[in-house]
Amino acid sequence: MMSIFIDGWETNLKFSAAHFIPEHSKCRRLHGHDYAIDVKIYGELRNGMVADFVQIKKELRTMLEEIDHKLILPVDGEGIKFEKIGNNYSIRYETFEMSIPGEFVYLCDVRHSSSEELARFLTGVLRKKVDLGDNLRKIELSVYEGPGQKATWEEEIG
Ligand SMILES: [Zn+2]
Repeated sequence: MMSIFIDGWETNLKFSAAHFIPEHSKCRRLHGHDYAIDVKIYGELRNGMVADFVQIKKELRTMLEEIDHKLILPVDGEGIKFEKIGNNYSIRYETFEMSIPGEFVYLCDVRHSSSEELARFLTGVLRKKVDLGDNLRKIELSVYEGPGQKATWEEEIG
């Protein structure tokens, strides 16, 4: 089978965002990362191609711009409670409490804003946005929390 690979560091599929993970010794504290994503798509050739690099990169960039420079807030976060009061999100976890403007928040349908869960979530977003041809078989999407460490979600398609 053939595959295409898009390297997020090289092709500017990057974003910066803040997050926190309750119950984790260090990550419970609000902090940020420079993220990048890699995508590998497997499939059969169609007109000499697996998929259109240009279209996929464009959709990925749009997707990442929505997260860039925001706080990633899990919708179904374990141990996290939040409510929107006016334009602000009031967020509580453990003994902590903060209020942050809604425009700074990216609501993400995960339990934890770990790279692993973000990789799975972003694969779902990509699949909704891009009309992937029926010649495709598998997607692997990796989320780097800084250079050198990444989590990868693999999903069979078609
Ligand atoms: Zn972190």
